[in-house]
Amino acid sequence: MDLQPFKELEQGENLRVPEELSLVGGPRNFRRTIVSVRIYPDSPYRVDIVEGKLALLVEGELVCDIELQDIPEYYRRDLRSGKTITEIAPTIEWGSLVYLTVYRKCQYFGFKEECQFCDINENVRQQKEAGRPYDTVKAVEEVVEALEIIDETDVEKRTRAYTITGGSITRHLRGQDEATFYEAYARAINSRFPGRWISKMVVQALPLDDVRRFRDAGVQIYHPNYEVWDRRLFSIICPGKEDYVGRDEWMKRIVAAAEVFGPSQVIPNFVAGVEMAAPHGFSRIEDALASTGEGLDYFMSRGITPRFTVWCPEPLSVLGRDQGAAPLEYHVGLLRLWRETLLRYNLPAPPGYGLPGVGNAVFSVSSFMDALPGDLEVARLPGESEVAANS
Ligand code: SF4
Repeated sequence: MDLQPFKELEQGENLRVPEELSLVGGPRNFRRTIVSVRIYPDSPYRVDIVEGKLALLVEGELVCDIELQDIPEYYRRDLRSGKTITEIAPTIEWGSLVYLTVYRKCQYFGFKEECQFCDINENVRQQKEAGRPYDTVKAVEEVVEALEIIDETDVEKRTRAYTITGGSITRHLRGQDEATFYEAYARAINSRFPGRWISKMVVQALPLDDVRRFRDAGVQIYHPNYEVWDRRLFSIICPGKEDYVGRDEWMKRIVAAAEVFGPSQVIPNFVAGVEMAAPHGFSRIEDALASTGEGLDYFMSRGITPRFTVWCPEPLSVLGRDQGAAPLEYHVGLLRLWRETLLRYNLPAPPGYGLPGVGNAVFSVSSFMDALPGDLEVARLPGESEVAANS
């Protein structure tokens, strides 16, 4: 998601920057919030050293201090094959989430199928061109081996969850359909480490029989991401999903999945701000928020809590770097709308993102959790105690 292609980064910045930064303290006394790093040399924001400490500056003015996550012990160990843990099972969300992108391509291919904000297939080409080790498909055995190392070395159990994710499989991958392919990872992990991590799966909105298979394989949280709510924009921004599944069927499948997992464990993501992308998106902030709010109402009235990541135009995607991102006013309005809708339906904070309330952030796009009241209960997973869910 960096805004500059690797080959234009003269100092190899892409190999050096941390995944996330914590913004804290400074003249405005920031309470901790976490941001994902995107490399963008033209940005007015810059991380630099001020009086011996890392700090965030905007056009030379100090904004706040920056903290980095300690390098976890497991990053110092390699797999038997020599592959690194960062290659097979990196952690994000301040070390709390093991992020397993097990298939790094997507079978929605080309501008007529790929989601228009996504550069997954271009990114594979870029990584390979840069000569980085980059397996398109991660072997189940290697994923389990990497998790063994993490389990052995993470004695404080700071890693609390893992996510299995990757591109969509519209046909077959190594003879398997999408559900069969991804289920195998969940089954292998959960049978080797029962109860060790919260198990999350980010795949398409699949038919109910497939969703039951995920649950039976031990998955606890299902993320069938819908990306954008508006009907017209869904067909333009997610043309592959529209063609293969269809927007109405996609939304119906999300709701149906709540029968299998329980509504609080179905957490579809949308890409906040992409509904304002030119040339097809809303030009007025109020129209974008009204549309997105309709989607929030649809799901939250059924007990399902969507969450969002902030749209950051990816230079190699169709909606590339010549786009401006949605304005700050939109994002503030969205946070207000999301919080108000969640509270209106008396919903708990979504599980798996740490504690709600400003200053508690762990999730790497933490603003939606920061915006919730600090005393709001977190939804409990089956078998989880209230204390565990809220600690
Ligand atoms: S389905 Fe997912 S991986 Fe595939 S193009 Fe869309 S966002 Fe990217």
